[in-house]
Amino acid sequence: MAATVENPPPDQDVASIHIDGRWRPSSSGGTRQVLDPADASVLATVAEGDRADTDSAVAAARRAFDEGPWPHTPATERAELLRRVADLLQRDREALALIESRDTGKTLEEGRVDIDDVTAAFRYFAELVAAESPGRVVDAGTPDVHSVVVHEPVGVCALITPWNYPLLQASWKAAPALGAGNTLVLKPSEVTPLSSVRLVRLLTEAGLPHGVANLVTGAGDPVGARLSEHPDVDLVSFTGGLASGVKVAQAAAPTVKKVALELGGKNPNVVFADACATEEGFDTAVDQALNAAFIHSGQVCSAGARLIIEESVRDRFVTELASRAERIRLGRGTEEGVECGPLVSAPQLAKVEEYVASALSEGAVLRCGGERPKPSEIRPADGYFYLPTILDHCHRQMRVVREETFGPLLTVETFRTEEEAVTLANDTEYGLAGAVFSADTARARRVAARLRHGTVWINDFHPYLPQAEWGGFGRSGVGRELGPHGLAEYRETKHVYENLNPAPVRWFTG
Ligand code: NAD
Repeated sequence: MAATVENPPPDQDVASIHIDGRWRPSSSGGTRQVLDPADASVLATVAEGDRADTDSAVAAARRAFDEGPWPHTPATERAELLRRVADLLQRDREALALIESRDTGKTLEEGRVDIDDVTAAFRYFAELVAAESPGRVVDAGTPDVHSVVVHEPVGVCALITPWNYPLLQASWKAAPALGAGNTLVLKPSEVTPLSSVRLVRLLTEAGLPHGVANLVTGAGDPVGARLSEHPDVDLVSFTGGLASGVKVAQAAAPTVKKVALELGGKNPNVVFADACATEEGFDTAVDQALNAAFIHSGQVCSAGARLIIEESVRDRFVTELASRAERIRLGRGTEEGVECGPLVSAPQLAKVEEYVASALSEGAVLRCGGERPKPSEIRPADGYFYLPTILDHCHRQMRVVREETFGPLLTVETFRTEEEAVTLANDTEYGLAGAVFSADTARARRVAARLRHGTVWINDFHPYLPQAEWGGFGRSGVGRELGPHGLAEYRETKHVYENLNPAPVRWFTG
């Protein structure tokens, strides 16, 4: 019998807004129920922040930046704080993994992986910040000038995050923002805010001064919208969907704040027949395609939702893939043996159902799934579950191929030549990630070099490294997270030119 992990509600706390070191409810008294996607029960009730709360949080962050010690704290001390946060994350690993699992629906094991990845991000940025040189001396061509380029914090940063990897996305922003000496207002997704509340508690426990990290729980509009337009916010870093990202960029434009956008993806997984020439190669490519498409029920920005496969191996490959997809065990993420949880919400489930209906009406052929599991086959019966679904005979004109579905839907397209494979893989308005599977190293690298995506995997799918930049080409976004670039996003660059031998210029003679 499957064992179930004890599931106490993580945070029954309406005082989920954190401003200037104090936890408080919304100024309007509004609250929001956070639902467990596995059974639609109420998991927690949190504050529904509004415009006034947002303004208070920005004011606190502004004061902490303009008057507080954090921006001037030595980099080594900021790095030390990030390391303490990493230690606290590991201390609370199980509790945080449970919160993430219950809030998003993902499996507990995925939650643990997330917490380890979050920890790794804090550790990576701690080391990067600690190792930074105080500035780059520039040769001005004369001994009379000392010229140095230094990096300073940007100021008040608004960090807006999505629901699929709540703590991970928050950490990719908060760790470099704090490491660089900024102050911030974090606005987690209203669908999954619980782990962000915990993160801010840990930042406080680690010793972050009051006002440096503020948190406003609440809806995209007004909280995220107000942050994006606020004149006292210097940078907005947003991760979420394309439509919201465009609104953020528009709202930020009049105040010319810095904008970083991590948006969606429609990611190709290109499989050449030579990758399947041996039984081992075939098994690997099928297994990776399964993982690429269905982990976290496909609710991953870099999900390999488009299988682009060489025609000669399509039938065998898709048959095996469908047979394995049908065996994926769905259920509550905290239950042992469960491999995929529910979708995050009722609207997300409805969206996926709509995409499948549209694909079938446009001529796609259903190879597996295509519906919710029968109530008798799933426990709990009232969660937002959807069967892993493979849609064969798809083409580029179909909505399901062009748009991000963010669900357990895999579309199949075929190619005959390498040129055709590249054309298909690049035929998307997005450009977040993609993969190529081939036993021919030269071919794999040739194709990888031509893919217009921010991350390209060869014979693999999904791994990322905190040391390597993450972000998208095209409409997948602007800027990069992780890696040195991920820290640079949170810094201003200043050139200090010092004349060591001042004298009149005499440009004007009068
Ligand atoms: P979403 O765009 O609906 O919401 C993201 C965040 O933006 C939430 O906090 C939301 O409240 C807020 N928001 C909504 N409207 C806003 C507005 N007008 N102004 C400011 N903020 C606003 O996205 P989602 O459904 O939560 O997340 C899924 C999306 O996130 C997918 O498109 C996925 O690809 C993307 N994503 C991208 C990455 C990446 O690294 N590129 C990572 C994870 C998720």
